[in-house]
Amino acid sequence: MVGSKTRLVLLLLVAGGVLGTGAARATSGWMDDAGDDHHAPPARSASKATPAKPAVAPPKDEPAHAVTTTPTPRASRPGAKPPAASASAPAPDARLTPDGALKLLQEGNQRWVSGQSTDPNTEPSRRQMLAEQGSHPFAIVLTCADSRLPAERIFDRGTGDLFVVRVAGNVAGTSETGTVQYGVGHLKAPLLVVMGHSKCGAVAAAASGAEAHGKLADLLTNIAPAVDRARKANPEAEGATLVAAAIKENVWQTIFDLIKFSPEVRRGVESGELKVIGAVCDIATGKVEWMGEHPWQAELVAAMNARAERDATAEGGSHTGSDH
Ligand SMILES: [Zn+2]
Repeated sequence: MVGSKTRLVLLLLVAGGVLGTGAARATSGWMDDAGDDHHAPPARSASKATPAKPAVAPPKDEPAHAVTTTPTPRASRPGAKPPAASASAPAPDARLTPDGALKLLQEGNQRWVSGQSTDPNTEPSRRQMLAEQGSHPFAIVLTCADSRLPAERIFDRGTGDLFVVRVAGNVAGTSETGTVQYGVGHLKAPLLVVMGHSKCGAVAAAASGAEAHGKLADLLTNIAPAVDRARKANPEAEGATLVAAAIKENVWQTIFDLIKFSPEVRRGVESGELKVIGAVCDIATGKVEWMGEHPWQAELVAAMNARAERDATAEGGSHTGSDH
């Protein structure tokens, strides 16, 4: 954890535009990129590559807040076993917390891994109901376009449950960030999962340094900072070992980019209405490894808010009277 005093120093550094100093870098390499609109490979030490904070907190039965899930009749696949109670999303008026949404995904993945999928919310009548009642997915999943990553199957969910964004290398470029912004700000999904996967071809291509052309080259530039960090944190690594490290760094990079470029994501995190979780799916077993929240999430949100405020002030926008 970073103490409040350290956090204040970080904010002052960001507000003063002096990021990149040794002091800031020593605290968090992620902060180096706070002042730029392009991807600058932040230097992060090996020790910071592994979040010191606990991974995903165990889901709690908290009082619900403002996120409503879709009505969810039980699975009706012919021959399917009746699903466990947890396989279904909540009843029409029930609301899900971020932890409650995460619990549904974790339980669904366990069913998928063990070959006991129940296919909840896939009955034909649900389509008509959702068409009439609208879309209220309980989780946003930003993951790779790889055909071995069928998101609804991996989490054993059905129609209307997940707002899925798929793009090679699970990067957050302009379109992906805009889509996530819609899911958070308009659909009010309480959970955002950024999920990489084993043997990701896009990350492997970025790590290999192979020459890419056209739009693919543009896409791979989003992954390059993650590869650089993986190399710095694992100087001896190469081949598949380097790619595996880069896959995790790339998940953190995408979360960083979403926090940086989406005020809706920052607001959701600050209010507690949104949880942002990293994950990696093993395509051979189907098992999802949960990485937890970005290790510097609170600091990044504060830094990006300060940066946005500074930019607005510089543009003479909505600034109405603080002391600078
Ligand atoms: Zn991939």
